[in-house]
Amino acid sequence: MSSILSYVQPTANSPWGTYLSQVDRVIPYLGDLARWAETLKRPKRALIVDVPIEMDDGSIAHFEGYRVQHNLSRGPGKGGVRFHPDVTLEEVMALSAWMTVKTAAVNLPYGGAKGGIRVDPKKLSLKELEKVTRRYTSEIGIIIGPHSDIPAPDVNTNAQIMAWMMDTYSMNVGGTATGVVTGKPLHLGGSLGRVKATGRGVFVTGREAARRLGLDLRGARVAVQGFGNVGSVAAELFAEAGAKIVAVQDHTGTIVNENGLDLAGLVPASRTDGGAVSFKGGDVIDNEAFWEVACDILIPAALEGQITAERAQKTKARLVLEGANGPTVPTADDILAERGVLVVPDVICNAGGVTVSYFEWVQDFSSFFWDEDEINVRLDRIMMNALNNIWDTADKHKITLRTATYAVACERILMARQERGLYP
Ligand code: NAD
Repeated sequence: MSSILSYVQPTANSPWGTYLSQVDRVIPYLGDLARWAETLKRPKRALIVDVPIEMDDGSIAHFEGYRVQHNLSRGPGKGGVRFHPDVTLEEVMALSAWMTVKTAAVNLPYGGAKGGIRVDPKKLSLKELEKVTRRYTSEIGIIIGPHSDIPAPDVNTNAQIMAWMMDTYSMNVGGTATGVVTGKPLHLGGSLGRVKATGRGVFVTGREAARRLGLDLRGARVAVQGFGNVGSVAAELFAEAGAKIVAVQDHTGTIVNENGLDLAGLVPASRTDGGAVSFKGGDVIDNEAFWEVACDILIPAALEGQITAERAQKTKARLVLEGANGPTVPTADDILAERGVLVVPDVICNAGGVTVSYFEWVQDFSSFFWDEDEINVRLDRIMMNALNNIWDTADKHKITLRTATYAVACERILMARQERGLYP
């Protein structure tokens, strides 16, 4: 029998390769727990499923789906489901591992999981999208559940898709299981504040990091790559705090204005087919020039692997806030550290979404729902505490915030592993 690892061929900068190198860097700080470290490099369980559906034209199409449970030592698996034509088992493995680290870094009682389907949802009708979602949910239904693994939205999935997933799982178990997914519509057990939670978490960790660096947010210049759910919400909160959003890049291109882009106009323009560059309140520049824009804070909030070694050399930012998962390759990480650029790593910076997902899950179990202020106050407190704890660890060992986050998180994960012991 082959191991799960034999199905992937990671490279230094591929998602799973990046994750492995991040784990290697933390092992020296794990003390006696290092004996368990191999656990972190092996997903517990990976399910590959065939997702056949009848298309609107009567043909039969097959898509490949995945659900990986990387680690369940601290609680049920938690992690999104991504619909994208480039999804691979390797990518889902890395994303599930980052969820393990993320939930431990903010001390939520979860392990890490992730799912995906290799499909371009933009090429499906609504009916086909629903069929793909329901069949996939039914196929992975043998390993998900409110107490075992709780999916959520990720790239190209949303509240409607979560509603279909919840309904399909509920039909199969013969009840209404709202706690099986998070990110649901509000009237189906969703939580207030969930949609903006990740962007809000980016802002909260960024605000704390800026305070510790002595960087005043009033007048600070911010550049944002990716202007979707995460990037645009973070940008709005920074603008409310007095910062200037001087550059925005999305899939349509890059727009700049050194006096600050007017978000009241840019946000709706970016939601149209023309994207961010259809907004007239700035100048369109070459995409590569985005990485050299004069700014204090850089927020990558689009895709993996965006901050390469070359771009890390160019950036003028003092502070990088990783809204996206895995936006910085390991060689770039070293360059940023050498240049004195502080990076708030993804596993803490974008943990606001999973934190409010946790609130949603708790509210579903108690059937008692909190108001938005309560959600935001609790989110702020959890994120601030997590960041401050990690910052103190980084100061103590003279290590980067990323390695410190892994040190805090991996200690929690491996302590749970050790205390549970090996079965049988
Ligand atoms: P989204 O689909 O809402 O937005 C993605 C943005 O990236 C869009 O503005 C798109 O135009 C832009 N983009 C796509 N390709 C690009 C390219 N080649 N160059 C520049 N911009 C490009 O997605 P989102 O929910 O905002 O997620 C963004 C990132 O944050 C992803 O890495 C995701 O995994 C991560 N993340 C999201 C959440 C969440 O709750 N939504 C939580 C944690 C992490």
